[in-house]
Amino acid sequence: MSYRQKRIPTILTSKELLDKAFKRASNIKKKGVDRLDSTKKSALAKMTTSGDIISGTLDHYVRSFPSFRKGEEFNAELVEVLVGVDDLKKSLAALDWCAKKTSELERAYLDRVRRAAEVSEVHQGRKEFYGRLSSLVDQIGKSLKFVSEARWKLKKLPVVDLSLPTVVIAGYPNVGKSQLVERMSTARPLIAPYPFTTKGIGVGHFKEGWRTYQVIDTPGLLDRRLEERNRIERQAILALKYLADVIVFILDPSESSGYRMEDQLALLESVKKGFEGLPIIEVENKVDMVKTGSERLKISALTGEGVQEVIGRVVSLLHTTEKEAGRVFR
Ligand code: GDP
Repeated sequence: MSYRQKRIPTILTSKELLDKAFKRASNIKKKGVDRLDSTKKSALAKMTTSGDIISGTLDHYVRSFPSFRKGEEFNAELVEVLVGVDDLKKSLAALDWCAKKTSELERAYLDRVRRAAEVSEVHQGRKEFYGRLSSLVDQIGKSLKFVSEARWKLKKLPVVDLSLPTVVIAGYPNVGKSQLVERMSTARPLIAPYPFTTKGIGVGHFKEGWRTYQVIDTPGLLDRRLEERNRIERQAILALKYLADVIVFILDPSESSGYRMEDQLALLESVKKGFEGLPIIEVENKVDMVKTGSERLKISALTGEGVQEVIGRVVSLLHTTEKEAGRVFR
């Protein structure tokens, strides 16, 4: 299933926005039946063009930012970490306000110019409109700047499908997370950027019955105890709870990953605490090397042994949770 995040366009400064609008308008010339009519037609077209460019561009900016509707808490949490939701909402509201004011102003001045009886009145009306438009757009200079900076930061928002049931894979580095994601996925997982990790997250998909599931690898995120993270990193990591429906935690009893079981179990406890309420499936990987007598699912991400069982466990767990909660997936 393909899912593309809405692209946020380049945000112009207030000066650039005004330049763009007035420049476009300055090229317009209309012919009428006499001088007054020509002046009027040209002025009306210039005013409509400049006003529409400004309100249309601002509207487009506002609509291109991710929304914070129910079911989109994951985005909201990451936007909070990256730029601050309240500040972003305020700035977008200022842009929205300016777009609406521009349209109001445009209607009022178009009306005035339409009713003008003299060429000078037409010029006067258009000039006044331009002046008021400039001061309106100047007023939102700071908000445009904030939104422009936010755009750069939000490029780190991962492209994930918030509507799909999602499995998040956790465990120390080298225990076999990426190998398992690859094994579970029908196509090669894509790497999506994620705040506070240069490695990004691996996003794969698999199908069971008619339903598509999303599997996410978390290198650099869920591979160190949460207690060792600073507040902001922790928030960026815990945002995954809004995305995950189940966590598969991988242990490597062979310890060939370089981490002792004792430490791996401590990480498991930390993840359990941080993601309280989310079901966690504990899996022992590298069964081709070491097989313990524990009750956990045993797999080899390398040979594929046991991987179908993990998928089966995920699917049945999510179905049960779904039934218990009496809901359909987000
Ligand atoms: P990640 O850092 O947790 O994503 O770990 P990787 O998936 O990159 O795996 C780390 C190393 O362990 C790689 O060299 C894999 O080939 C190896 N590996 C992963 N799963 C298995 C397994 O089931 N058996 C064996 N023998 N090696 C494995």
